[in-house]
Amino acid sequence: MLYYNTYQKSGFCMQFVPIKQLLITVLLMTVSFFASAEPPKVLASIKPLQLIAQAVTEGVADTKVLLPPGSSPHSHSLKPSDVRKLRDADVIFWVGPSMETFLPKMLTSTKGVKSVSMMDIHGIRLRSSEEDEHHIHEHGEHHDHGDYDPHIWLSTENARVIAKEMARVLISVDKVNQSRYQNNLDLFLKSMDQTDSRNCQKVEQSGKKPFFVFHNAYGYLQEQYGLEVAGYFTLNPEQQPGARHLVSLKGQLDKASETCIFREPQFQPAYIERLTEGRSIRVGVLDPLAENIQSGPESYAKFINQLVDNITSCIQGAAKKNGKLS
Ligand SMILES: [Zn+2]
Repeated sequence: MLYYNTYQKSGFCMQFVPIKQLLITVLLMTVSFFASAEPPKVLASIKPLQLIAQAVTEGVADTKVLLPPGSSPHSHSLKPSDVRKLRDADVIFWVGPSMETFLPKMLTSTKGVKSVSMMDIHGIRLRSSEEDEHHIHEHGEHHDHGDYDPHIWLSTENARVIAKEMARVLISVDKVNQSRYQNNLDLFLKSMDQTDSRNCQKVEQSGKKPFFVFHNAYGYLQEQYGLEVAGYFTLNPEQQPGARHLVSLKGQLDKASETCIFREPQFQPAYIERLTEGRSIRVGVLDPLAENIQSGPESYAKFINQLVDNITSCIQGAAKKNGKLS
């Protein structure tokens, strides 16, 4: 027989192909099958880390995220479905034991999985929690974030370090796709430069007015772009702020005359609504977990841009006065 039925790669059209060409095709397919062993299954603990990982693995593999939408890493506890995701992964990227307190125990019993805690990697910038102490400690609240602020993913400087580490780890387990990871990393680093120049300009134009945030998560973002967080309501988003801390916040809000308070989509505390009553305060939303951002190669930049846009538009007064909490 001289001719075989087969698919040609371009256009998926059925065509007659001479046997010699078919043999070459089969040979090439065999070679590429052995060369591209399954890419590693990558799992990130929280969505923002997934967005950075997705930028690095684009074109090689899709990454997964452990925490389901609506759950806070501060209070999450492992479910059987999470355990399955962990067991199924080859590589796990997470923040650190002071953030995902539910993870370390599970990881010790998960064999053959490479786990990387981003708070421990070389070059990561860690803010001391003490830098914020003076805001709150006199009010008798105890933070449970450990010695360092664990919200490390909220600065592009740290995102660069995280992406480099992810690329290094992925190349170490998947040499075949080394050039892909490297190329993706270069693109990501370039996009971070654009993100920074865009956001520095936005913040500059906004007049850098001080604002209030729901929980103490934005220190890295503040540092990165020279924003001014005047105060936060709580260190632990699961807990009500203490009565004395609320009184002191009320005093600060009265003095601030016109300002913005940012709540978060994962939490709907009634006290924020009460605090805005009778005051010239706009309420904005900041989502430190990127829940409404679709995972894709550009997503991390979109996430950071959205945070900066929400802050700058609110402090410039563009948001509705006393905007309804939704
Ligand atoms: Zn937090």
